[in-house]
Amino acid sequence: MESELVEIKELIETLKHLQKVDQRLAHCGRMKKFEPARLAEAEGKAVNAERLHDQLDAEHREIQLKIASIELDIKSRDEKINRHKSQMLTVSNNREYQSLMKELSLEQVEKQRVEEELLELMIKIDGFSDREGEVQREIDAAKAAADTVRGEVAEALGELEVEEKAALQERETVSAGIDAEELRDYGRLFVSRNGVAVVRVNYIAGPPTSEGRYVCGGCNMPLTHQMVNLLLIGRKMVTCQSCGRILYMDDESGGEY
Ligand SMILES: [Zn+2]
Repeated sequence: MESELVEIKELIETLKHLQKVDQRLAHCGRMKKFEPARLAEAEGKAVNAERLHDQLDAEHREIQLKIASIELDIKSRDEKINRHKSQMLTVSNNREYQSLMKELSLEQVEKQRVEEELLELMIKIDGFSDREGEVQREIDAAKAAADTVRGEVAEALGELEVEEKAALQERETVSAGIDAEELRDYGRLFVSRNGVAVVRVNYIAGPPTSEGRYVCGGCNMPLTHQMVNLLLIGRKMVTCQSCGRILYMDDESGGEY
C-alpha cells in the first residue's frame, strides 16, 4: 500500500515535469513559426515601399512625356500663328483677311488652353522629387529595419534550435519513467487540452456558513466528495469528470484536508 501511494505521487510528479518540458517544446514550435513570419513582415514593408517608389517613378515619367509633347504642340501652334500673321500681311481681300483672323483667334484660344494644361502639369511634377525622396527614405529605413530583424531572427532561431534539442533530450529521459499507456493518455490530453493535461485542484472558499468546494484547476468544475477523498488518499489517479485532465493536490491547493 505504501508503495502504491509513492507510485502515484511519483507518477504525477513525473507527468508534471513532462508537461513542463512539453510546454517548452510547444513554445519552441510556435516561435519557430513566428520568427520567420516576423522577418517576412519586415521585408514586406521594404518591398511595398519600393513598389510605391516604382509607381511614383512611372507617373513621373508619364508626366514628363506629356510635358514634352505639350511643349512640342505649343511650338507648332506658335509656328501656325506666325504663319497666319504673315499671311494676313499679304492678303488681297477682306474676306480672306477675316477668315485668317478667325483661324488665328481660334488658334490663340487653343494655345492658351494647352498652356494652362502645361502649367498644371508643371505644378504637379514639382511635388514629385520631394515625394520620391520621402519614399526613398522610407525604403532605406524599412531595409535597415529588415536587416536588424533578420539578425534577430537568425539568432532567435539558433537559440530555439538549441533549446528544442535540450528539451527533446530531457523529454526522452523523463518519459522513460512512465509506462507506454499512461504516456499515450497524457499525450492525447496534452494535445486536446491545449497544452495543459495535469492540473492542480483549487479550493474555493464558500460563504461563512457553508463549506467551500474543490474545483478542477483546468475547467473550474467542482469535484465530487468521492474524487476529493480519492485525491486525499492518493492511491489512484483522478481525472476531472468534465475536462478529463489529470488532477493533483498540493500545499497550494488551499482548503483544509
Ligand atoms: Zn476539468
